[in-house]
Amino acid sequence: MAVVDPLIELRGVNKHYGTLHVLQSIDLTVGRGEVVVVIGPSGSGKSTLCRAMNRLETVESGEIVIDGQALPEEGKALARLRAEVGMVFQSFNLFAHKTVLANVSLAQIKVRKRKKEDADRRSRELLDRVGLAAHADKYPAQLSGGQQQRVAIARALAMDPKALLFDEPTSALDPEMINEVLEVMQQLAHEGMTMVVVTHEMGFARSAANRVVFMADGKIVEDRAPEDFFTAPRSDRAKDFLSKIL
Ligand code: ADP
Ligand code: MG
Repeated sequence: MAVVDPLIELRGVNKHYGTLHVLQSIDLTVGRGEVVVVIGPSGSGKSTLCRAMNRLETVESGEIVIDGQALPEEGKALARLRAEVGMVFQSFNLFAHKTVLANVSLAQIKVRKRKKEDADRRSRELLDRVGLAAHADKYPAQLSGGQQQRVAIARALAMDPKALLFDEPTSALDPEMINEVLEVMQQLAHEGMTMVVVTHEMGFARSAANRVVFMADGKIVEDRAPEDFFTAPRSDRAKDFLSKIL
């Protein structure tokens, strides 16, 4: 699809794991302010795609450009650019021995070089935004899964990223906690955050996505507006996938 103001661009990206061609000539552009939902069967390469976008995985060929700058291989330039693209994982990845507040402040101090008091002030604002102001001094284990995932979102936001990547952010949650996380994500989408979201939550895809990218076997098979994709999938792979989950 044509994108007016590209923020994340992948051009001809390829990656193998051994003989498995996990990303096959991927071309994908995410515009500023766009919400792109990535769906597809397990093993199709969705996580690898997400991780490639901030070099948690290296790729063999192709270009990845973030806001006009090619993603560097390593070093300080990579750290700087990586901070522009926040990531939220299925498994939260909070530091168990640090408080909620410290979890949100840590990278602000280390990477953004903020003073602790400035970082903590910003952390409290963001915790308030995700509905957790009262939990700042608790430890992750004292929170529910849904609350921990909201802390992880606050932590990602604390870096003032240009975009956020979510890799199945609700897949590890009990059903009753899924909505509180989706509501925060919906709010971010509404506020204009650029987001790439791997998810099986089709309600979220329908209501928040500008585009749905359907992946199968390492390829982008469809890249379309949600209403088109869900009502009239073109490929047999997508028809088959939707028939199983809807
Ligand atoms: P998805 O997120 O769509 O389920 P992944 O990107 O996690 O897919 O994985 C795509 C394929 O690559 C799968 O077949 C998976 O087993 C394989 N894979 C993922 N990570 C590795 C790895 N580190 N080493 C080898 N194979 C991997
Ligand atoms: Mg995955």
